[in-house]
Amino acid sequence: MKDAHYNVIIIGAGAVGLGVAFEITRRFPRQRLLVLEKEERVARHQSGHNSGVIHSGVYYKPGSLKARLCVPGAAAMLEFCREHGVPHRVCGKVIVATQEQELPGLEELRKRGEANGLTGLRLIDSGQLSELEPHAAGLQALLVPSTGITDYAAVCEKYAELITCQGGTVLCSAPAHAIHRSANGIVIETPHGAFFANALINCAGLYSDRICRMAGDDPGVMIVPFRGEYYDLVPERASLVRALIYPVPDPRFPFLGVHFTRRISGKVDAGPNAILALAREGYRHSDINLRDLASSFSFPGFWRMARRHWRSGVDEWHRSLSKRAFVRALQRLVPEVKEEDLVPGGSGVRAQAVTPDGALVDDFHFVPSGKVLHVLNVPSPAATASLTIGKAIVDMAAESLGLS
Ligand SMILES: Cc1cc2nc3c(=O)[nH]c(=O)nc-3n(C[C@H](O)[C@H](O)[C@H](O)COP(=O)(O)OP(=O)(O)OC[C@H]3O[C@@H](n4cnc5c(N)ncnc54)[C@H](O)[C@@H]3O)c2cc1C
Repeated sequence: MKDAHYNVIIIGAGAVGLGVAFEITRRFPRQRLLVLEKEERVARHQSGHNSGVIHSGVYYKPGSLKARLCVPGAAAMLEFCREHGVPHRVCGKVIVATQEQELPGLEELRKRGEANGLTGLRLIDSGQLSELEPHAAGLQALLVPSTGITDYAAVCEKYAELITCQGGTVLCSAPAHAIHRSANGIVIETPHGAFFANALINCAGLYSDRICRMAGDDPGVMIVPFRGEYYDLVPERASLVRALIYPVPDPRFPFLGVHFTRRISGKVDAGPNAILALAREGYRHSDINLRDLASSFSFPGFWRMARRHWRSGVDEWHRSLSKRAFVRALQRLVPEVKEEDLVPGGSGVRAQAVTPDGALVDDFHFVPSGKVLHVLNVPSPAATASLTIGKAIVDMAAESLGLS
C-alpha cells in the first residue's frame, strides 16, 4: 500500500487534474501530492478522446474564464509541447460561412478573437479560401493562423511523468468510492485503502458532480454526457483537407458543429456531433447505464434543457443514425466529400454541466468548499488551457487549500 498521508489529493488524471497537479508540484515541491485515477492509465476519457486541437481562443466571450485561460493556455501548451518533445503543429484553421445569414456571425467571431487578444485574424473571400483549402467552399471565411494540433493523451502522459519527477504520485486503478470530511482533514477510500489529505481537488470530469456530492457538497449542477462521434476520411481522400475546416458555430450551443480536423498523426477526421449519451462513459449507442439515466431524468434541469433544445437534439440524433445526413452537413464545407469517403471513427463524451433551470453552463466553473475545490465544468477548450487552468486554480485556492 502507498503512503496514506498527503497534503493534497486530486481525483482524476485527465488533462485538468494533471495540469493542476503539475502546477502544484512545480510551485510547491515540498507538498505531498497524490493524483487518484480510476482507470488503469491517465487520459482514458475526455482528455484521450478529443479532437486534439490547440484552440486559439476565438470563440469565447471576452472576459470569460474560457477566453482568459485559453489564449495564454494555447501559447503555454505549444511551449510545453516544444520543450518536452510532444508532437504538435501550428497549422491554422478556417471557419467557413456557407450561407449569407452566417456572415454576421463570422464578423462577430473576428471581433471576439481580437478582443481576446488574438493577432493575425483575417476575413478571406472564397478565392483566398480555395488557395488555403482547395476543396472547401464558402462565401467567406475567418482565417485563424494560431490554431494548432497535438495529441492530448501524449500531453497527459508527459504531465504524469513530470509530476512524478517533481515528487508527486499518480496512482492509477484507484477509484475514489467514498469521501469523509472531519475537522482533521479528508479521508478518501479506494481499493488501495484509505488516503488522508489536508485538501482535495475534484477533477473527475464526467463524475465531478457525483464526487462533489460524495464529499458532502451540493454541486448545484448536473453533469450531462454529450457524445461526439467521428468519421475518418479514408486515406486516399485525406487530401480533401489540408488543416482544420470549421463551420460558423450556432451561438446557442457550446459545441462547434461538425468539422474536419487533420490530426497530428496525419489522419483526417470529421465530427464530432453532439448527442445525448445514455451513459456517462457511453462511447457507443449500445452503452446504456440505468443509474446515469435515472440521475439525469430525476434532475429538473434535464427536462428544461430538453424542452429548450429538443429540435436540435432530434437533428443531432438524425445525423448520428443516418450517415447520409452526417455527410450532408459536411458537404456544406467540402462539397466533394461523399459517403464512401468516410468510415466510422472514434468518439468522445463531453462532461457538460446543466443548471437546474436547464441552461448549458458555458464557462469554466470551479466551486470552493473549505479545503475542497470542485472543478465542475471544464469543457473544450480545457485540454488546450490545462496548464493555465492549473495556474488559475492554484492562484485562486493555494491559501484556502493550505498549500502556500
Ligand atoms: C469529443 C470531444 C472533443 C474535444 N475536442 C477538444 C479539442 O480539440 N481541444 C480542447 O482543448 N478540448 C477539447 N475537448 C475538451 C477536452 O477534452 C476536455 O475539456 C478536457 O479533456 C477535460 O479534462 P478533465 O481532466 O476535466 O476530464 P477527463 O479527461 O474526463 O478526466 C477526468 C478523469 O477523472 C477520472 N475519474 C472519474 N471518477 C473518478 C473516481 N471516482 N476516482 C478516480 N478517478 C475518477 C476519470 O477516469 C478521468 O480520467 C473535447 C472533448 C470531447 C469529448
